[in-house]
Amino acid sequence: MISCLAFAASTAVAAAAAQEQEVFVDTIDLGAGIYALVTNRGGNVGISVGEDGVFMIDTQFGPIAPFLDRAQRAVSDGAPVELILNTHLHGDHVLGNAWFAERGAVIMAHHSVRPALVSPVTANLTGATPEPLSGGFLPVVQLNGGETLSYNGETVRFHHEPDAHTAGDIWVHFVEADVIHTGDLLFSGWFPYIDLDNGGTVNGFIAAMQSMVDVAGPDTKVISGHGPMSTEADLEASIAMLTEARARVAALVEQEASYAEILAAEPLADFHEDWNWRFITTERMIWTLYRDITGVIPENE
Ligand SMILES: [Zn+2]
Ligand SMILES: [Zn+2]
Repeated sequence: MISCLAFAASTAVAAAAAQEQEVFVDTIDLGAGIYALVTNRGGNVGISVGEDGVFMIDTQFGPIAPFLDRAQRAVSDGAPVELILNTHLHGDHVLGNAWFAERGAVIMAHHSVRPALVSPVTANLTGATPEPLSGGFLPVVQLNGGETLSYNGETVRFHHEPDAHTAGDIWVHFVEADVIHTGDLLFSGWFPYIDLDNGGTVNGFIAAMQSMVDVAGPDTKVISGHGPMSTEADLEASIAMLTEARARVAALVEQEASYAEILAAEPLADFHEDWNWRFITTERMIWTLYRDITGVIPENE
């Protein structure tokens, strides 16, 4: 009996330890005190560390926040995060907010983000409705886009895109360091999630990627929202793929093909191997394009 209990307890400890071990944070030094914190969960985080303090872009999921904090303290001499920008409203970018707010961080986001976190809408693609948020989860500084943060010796520009991944995306340009954090305006090498229920559009998403290309050069370091560390060429590849994909589905809609007929025609077949992934499958990409073009919500799979 005793050994049985001991076994159960040690199993629980082992399970907890295993869960903890499953989270890893890869700290990538981009120079000028700027780092990408890449984990095996959620969106990619950016930080700027220097004499003014620590500025963090996105906070991932609640249980991951302590791991992010530990990773940033390892390169900031233990300093707490002072400023946070949420690039947009999705849970994998904001659910660590409360952890950092409780430790003194001030959270900024586009002004559309706070009301969307308080009263979330259902995503028709998945049928899921996020939990409403309050308190330390909510951004306290409301941005319009176009603001400049002067911090750690950098000119940090906040660019708002009104109708791209959502209605409230802000991407960040560290001008002197030549680093861009895209938020979820780049899924690097993957079909993008475009959240039509929260104001996203396909053409707006393409335009947002183009606006980043317009300020980027061949040496610009691009922190993607999801996917590997990237470059201007990765933005251009995503623009080319998405522009072509939309045109193909639009041509079928023009021929009055139904959603079922468009799926059967496999218009993105040659993109499947490179761009399909767990969340945005080729079928979900077609679903998004069809709904974006027609305004009709197709039957989900
Ligand atoms: Zn994301
Ligand atoms: Zn997102």
